[in-house]
Amino acid sequence: MKGECLVKVDPERPEREALERAGDVLRRGGLVAFPTETVYGLGADALNPGASARIFKVKGRPPDNPLIIHVEGPEGLWSVASSVPEEAWRLVERLWPGPLTIVVPKDPGVPSVVTGGLPTVAVRSPAHRVALGLIEAAGVPVAAPSANRSGRPSPVTAQDVAEDLDCEVDLILDGGETFFGVESTIIDFTRDPPVVLRPGPIAPEDVERIIGVRPLVPPEARALATPERPLAPGMKYRHYSPDAQLVLVEGSTNPREAAWALHCTRLWLENELGGGAAVAVLASEESIEEMRRLGLARGGEWSLGPRRDPLIAARRLYKLLRRLDREGYRAGVVEGVVEEGIGLAVMNRLRKAASRRLAIGEALSLCRRGVRP
Ligand code: AMP
Ligand code: MG
Repeated sequence: MKGECLVKVDPERPEREALERAGDVLRRGGLVAFPTETVYGLGADALNPGASARIFKVKGRPPDNPLIIHVEGPEGLWSVASSVPEEAWRLVERLWPGPLTIVVPKDPGVPSVVTGGLPTVAVRSPAHRVALGLIEAAGVPVAAPSANRSGRPSPVTAQDVAEDLDCEVDLILDGGETFFGVESTIIDFTRDPPVVLRPGPIAPEDVERIIGVRPLVPPEARALATPERPLAPGMKYRHYSPDAQLVLVEGSTNPREAAWALHCTRLWLENELGGGAAVAVLASEESIEEMRRLGLARGGEWSLGPRRDPLIAARRLYKLLRRLDREGYRAGVVEGVVEEGIGLAVMNRLRKAASRRLAIGEALSLCRRGVRP
């Protein structure tokens, strides 16, 4: 069955016929997976409660984790939001279409299944010709979370979508690999100052440059959360995880130290798992080079790109997490990236995906605690 619901589209000049067919599926209450500039989305007519409810069922998504509604541009906000603060409006005028989601008070016409019962709604306009063409062809706002099974790494290719959801969706538009590889930045404009609920390709500095206000980021914003009103409903769930166990090594400043720390963690994990289990290493180009130079590399070291370039890490992140499972690894050790720009988003996802986190010193001490270096 796999792949029978897949339809290839040209990401630059999507074929009219494919978009019309997909738009038709959405208008009739069906589900369409489609590429955006961030990850693949699983779309339904946002104003049709039955169709949106099917998204939760197919993904196995908890009902209190709301969906993002996709619109063609700023004007589309009026179909789903009851009000838009002036700062939010200025921001979307500059950044849409683009990888920015805003949270604003919802219009009563948006079914509560879409917003997980919240009085607010998350909205964005995706910078991808297939996504925009689909919204236009459907003629309705499109509710779409990432097109993965809940908890798994987000899909960056149509094959990733098919791997998780097969043909439980009516149609998968295959427009090749997505650009950023991590999900949009979410900013909550129902709080003052606005709060970054999820870091993504748009950094807090970018927002400050445009609206003159720096949104709060999670450690500073945590004080605003109450049990009745958590910052983001999705935050409490484990996310982005492969079946393989993932251990994150954080805080390395030089490749030589990182090479040893990754090696020690790998040996310790192999020891713990027993039975000759293979453990992959996901690390910066520099750290992998250093592992080779020190004679610590032995295959199964995968590069997240150069340390200075977190966009490459973002683009490889979910692909490598899925590769662990595809190649049958029981575990992976991953090196943290610098928390600047999109690197903030990469670290946010890695911390949620990892089952254990080690500081560099802890990782190094594993070698001293009886695991042979
Ligand atoms: P996904 O598209 O799968 O990345 O999930 C959508 C994300 O948007 C989840 O993390 C939700 O918690 C978040 N989200 C959607 N609607 C709202 C809302 N009204 N308020 C806060 N967060 C939201
Ligand atoms: Mg998701």
